[in-house]
Amino acid sequence: MTLRLALLGATGSIGRAALEVVRHHPDRLSVTTLAAQGRKPEALAALARETGARLVAVTDPAAAAALARALPGGVEVAVGAEGLIAAATHPEVDRVVAAVVGAAGLPPVHAALAAGKGVALANKESMVVAGPLLNALAAASGAEIVPVDSEHSALHQALRGGRPAEVRQLLLTASGGPFLRRDAASFDAIRVEEALAHPTWSMGAKITIDSATLVNKGLELIEAAHLFAIPPERIGVVVHPQSIVHSFVEFIDGSLLAQLSVNDMIFPVQYALAYPERWENTFPRLDPAALGTLEFLPLDRARFPAVELARSALAAGQSAPAVLNAANEEAVHAFLDRRIRFPAIVETVRRVLERHDPAPVGSLEAALAWDAWGRARAREALAALAP
Ligand code: NAD
Ligand code: MG
Repeated sequence: MTLRLALLGATGSIGRAALEVVRHHPDRLSVTTLAAQGRKPEALAALARETGARLVAVTDPAAAAALARALPGGVEVAVGAEGLIAAATHPEVDRVVAAVVGAAGLPPVHAALAAGKGVALANKESMVVAGPLLNALAAASGAEIVPVDSEHSALHQALRGGRPAEVRQLLLTASGGPFLRRDAASFDAIRVEEALAHPTWSMGAKITIDSATLVNKGLELIEAAHLFAIPPERIGVVVHPQSIVHSFVEFIDGSLLAQLSVNDMIFPVQYALAYPERWENTFPRLDPAALGTLEFLPLDRARFPAVELARSALAAGQSAPAVLNAANEEAVHAFLDRRIRFPAIVETVRRVLERHDPAPVGSLEAALAWDAWGRARAREALAALAP
């Protein structure tokens, strides 16, 4: 019997890594459902043929018609937000690879956990928007959330080296992005192309911009706090430009355990699918002797205020992280559309959070309402910030 997967965000960077892992382990993994925006229906149909998927979900109704024509008979087409949930909760799915980008990934993760399906979680935004809610659902249904984010995969692995009470702190590594050594005085002049040129990882556009502002590390701090039930003051960040050490756990006796691998997301994806096992593979391995120098340096909080912004949103709690995430998504889109300058991304998030009084997020509907509130306030802030 193979582990039957729902691949949400199948055409993206993580989706492609997941497909590589599936191709590598045909005896262990199979794909039951696929979901993507559907901008390239032909490519999605080809994936469905290759994997033998039974259901393909797309966001765009126009794409659905083209997809239906291109698919082999008997494959179901599902559309829109409901289609995404149908893909996540299909009765013949055992584990969901959540690799949609943004808060759009929350409803299917919520539905998967409610249905008792394990989730390999790349979509960190869903944990940021509704972490306590998702944890409660998982606890109630017995479904497990295993992180795909490389830092959290490293922490998940290193945490197996001790008991929860023996953990002193989690230390997330951050590459620092393309502007690690750039003078903040010239941040105003950063072009979209420069921000999209990440030095160590090849990823989708949104997370690449988040890595340049370091909002990504802020989101990861919130994600780690929820995944591992650790308060924010016990989560640190250390800059590590080579992205080889994927994070550290420091234990109370002064020992640090880290996880290292080649910086390719196939490793954390495979870990999340194999867990609680480990599977052999023939992926290119890390050769420490060939690495040369690995650097570790403190984060410059003055040039990159995003991590502290996320820390204070997490401390404020309730709806604040959802609002932070929503404002950031809107601001990143505006930057990619060349409507605002680079520093205005984090400035937008700061302004929206300033106007926010945190309120409870007790349901999916409440989470989505706060997401919408954050987006609306962000659009107002963005209009004021446009040059
Ligand atoms: P991407 O932009 O490359 O791919 C996104 C995928 O989601 C695509 O298949 C797209 O069609 C689909 N999608 C987008 N909006 C959708 C919607 N509304 N409904 C259905 N499908 C939709 O993004 P990515 O880089 O693969 O990132 C995916 C997620 O994984 C993000 O949450 C990101 O933060 C996280 N992540 C990515 C990496 C990485 O290396 N790329 C690492 C860690 C975490
Ligand atoms: Mg990461």
